[in-house]
Amino acid sequence: MIKNEQNILVIDDDPVMLRSLKELLAIHDYDTDVATGGEQAICLINNKDYDLILLDLHMPDVNGYDVMQHIKSVNQTPAIIIVSGENSFEAARKACSGGTYAYLSKPYKTNELLNTVRLALREKHLKKLNSVVQHQLKESERLHRYLVNTSPDIIYILDPQGSFTFINQRIESLLGFSPEELIGKHYSILIHQDDAKHAKYVFNERRVGERASNNIELRLKCKDTDKPRYFENKMLPIELSSMGIYTGANNNKKNTYLGTYGVARDITERKIAEETITYQAYHDLLTRLPNRSLLRDRLNLAITQAKRENEMLAVMFLDLDRFKNINDSLGHITGDELLQQVSARLKSCLREGDTLARFGGDEFTLLLPKITNRNADAKKIAEKVAYVLKEPFFIDNNELYVSASIGISLYPQDGQNMDTLIKNADIAMYHVKGQGKNGFQFFSDEMDTPYYKNLSLDTGIHKALDNEEFTLLYQPQINVSSGEIVGVEALLRWHHPDLGCIMPSEFIPFAEETGLIIDIDNWVIKNALCEISQWHQSGLPEVRMAINISACHLARENFVAEIAQALTDFNVPGRYIEIEITENAIMEDMEGVIHKLKKLRKLGISVAIDDFGTGYSSLTYLHKLPIHTLKIDRTFLQVERFANDDHTIVNTIVAMAKGLKLNVIAEGIESQRQLDYLREIGCTEAQGFLFGKPVEATLIKSLLTKKPFVLPDANKPGLGLHRKQH
Ligand code: C2E
Ligand code: MG
Ligand code: MG
Repeated sequence: MIKNEQNILVIDDDPVMLRSLKELLAIHDYDTDVATGGEQAICLINNKDYDLILLDLHMPDVNGYDVMQHIKSVNQTPAIIIVSGENSFEAARKACSGGTYAYLSKPYKTNELLNTVRLALREKHLKKLNSVVQHQLKESERLHRYLVNTSPDIIYILDPQGSFTFINQRIESLLGFSPEELIGKHYSILIHQDDAKHAKYVFNERRVGERASNNIELRLKCKDTDKPRYFENKMLPIELSSMGIYTGANNNKKNTYLGTYGVARDITERKIAEETITYQAYHDLLTRLPNRSLLRDRLNLAITQAKRENEMLAVMFLDLDRFKNINDSLGHITGDELLQQVSARLKSCLREGDTLARFGGDEFTLLLPKITNRNADAKKIAEKVAYVLKEPFFIDNNELYVSASIGISLYPQDGQNMDTLIKNADIAMYHVKGQGKNGFQFFSDEMDTPYYKNLSLDTGIHKALDNEEFTLLYQPQINVSSGEIVGVEALLRWHHPDLGCIMPSEFIPFAEETGLIIDIDNWVIKNALCEISQWHQSGLPEVRMAINISACHLARENFVAEIAQALTDFNVPGRYIEIEITENAIMEDMEGVIHKLKKLRKLGISVAIDDFGTGYSSLTYLHKLPIHTLKIDRTFLQVERFANDDHTIVNTIVAMAKGLKLNVIAEGIESQRQLDYLREIGCTEAQGFLFGKPVEATLIKSLLTKKPFVLPDANKPGLGLHRKQH
């Protein structure tokens, strides 16, 4: 084995000696090069790396010492056996000080020589092996050091006292400390104060195997530095795995704890992802407000606290009026933008500690803890909300007006638990909707749950349309000077098979929110036109038919075309029809509405503004509108107002209508006194129970055939209302 692998050179100036050595070695399977003299030897050494050199000292010109010198100078490390005739101690000492393996005197003993050669070759072989291993080890260490230092994780070793003996470079980019400044320091300087207790048995883990720490979450402190951004939150969430280090696996000896080895992974990204997921689970992403789940959490907590502290709290349920219209007519992007702007304004109404949540769609909920007085706190905030929503919203060149209906329930009187409080605030809110929207109401026990809160309105209305459960009643509109019926208003009733007669205020607000109102309005238009067409054909006196149209219906693009088609279908001249719309319907899209109203006018249809004075009451836009009639809302003619001589609004409306040459109808006239007053101020028409409640078609037809109403005279009190007898 050795023969073929190892290179041997024999150097002697005596050729006989040289040959005999070569032959001797050849007999024992050693293949050798030979050099006769030092000079030749140097040439060979320059070209080949020898493992063993048998060297004569005494040679002419270049002697053995010179050869050794040369070997050293070319950094070769062969084993050198001196085979020399020089027997002096001095010569041997000198030769050996040059790193010679052995010194044999000539004449040598064959066995001794062979033995020395064998041993020298073996030692050389071992040395070679050793150096390879050394090299590999160095390489491997370099590799591991590289892996450790470039690892994305923090890797550290602690001594038994908990001080760092090693920590990789990663610490610097993650926490801002250099490894050098941490060596010798106790690990606790890196631990976030809130996690100190938790870290105690983990960071300096003593256990090994399955019981050692695995994937434990901790927070580390970043170095106080003014380096921006990277360390700005001064805290790094990590996931740590660590284990104890013990002296070798010698079973006989008791193992000694040497310290801890640990790997910490930066989990910032994961934490951010987790936080985002949690945020999304508890927030509405459009408005960034708490969502229904978070509101429920907070409300539950607030109720517990209110119970403990004997306090009151309020839950406000807020629904934007006619939001669906905006969404349908201007698109979802505008609708979304509006919701964002509305939430920003709502936020401005909150006190510290209040929660505003988006409950879904256009519904918001306000939780107001620590209410001391319902009027001072809850009412004030509701008024503030109404106030901040009054100003128009500007989105993409649209000027939008929004109002809200707010229902308020109070803990403890309106409910002891979360669900009851939310339900009652919701019921109160629907009562606001039912009474014309835009405003707020506190829940009271007398409030019935509106019909549409209990039944599926969707299927209910479809069935009602299919099964002809809807009917129209007609209420006369009177000329206050002549007593003649000049028009009738078609008013809808729903005869539900189980629930009996349902009034429009019970289902129309909801139908407006869901869009079902379109089907309802179309049904009304069709039936009202059909009716008036029959009246016309049967020769009844000519009267106007007033039809209520919802804002969202008016907002539809093909509204005018549909009406025109209906007029043709039923062969009704446009002048027989008046449509009643609310102020809010106009304000939502003034330009668009004006355009449509002009088209309606071309068809002969007249337009009345219903409930005038209750909406935006902006008198400034009136002259711009192609309308014919103002209907003064009945609240302005209420008995209480008369008692207080509060006629300002009615007077203003009538005066202004005269100026604009508009027809005025006063709604809800129930008493002689109201009628007298209307005459006094020159109001031309009136409608109300005083002249007749809404009645079925047959009844109104018979009224139309009779002579005009004899209207009571102001100067003759007590005279009842009756028909003129001729
Ligand atoms: P409105 O258009 O302002 O109708 C007048 C309401 O006042 C009617 O209530 C009528 O019955 C009531 N009323 C009339 N005279 C008096 C009176 O002297 N005293 C009192 N206290 N009330 C009087 P109704 O029928 O319950 O309708 C309520 C509202 O529902 C209507 O207000 C209208 O906005 C809506 N509505 C009714 N029918 C329709 C319809 O076919 N389509 C649409 N879109 N809305 C309708
Ligand atoms: Mg009306
Ligand atoms: Mg009205």
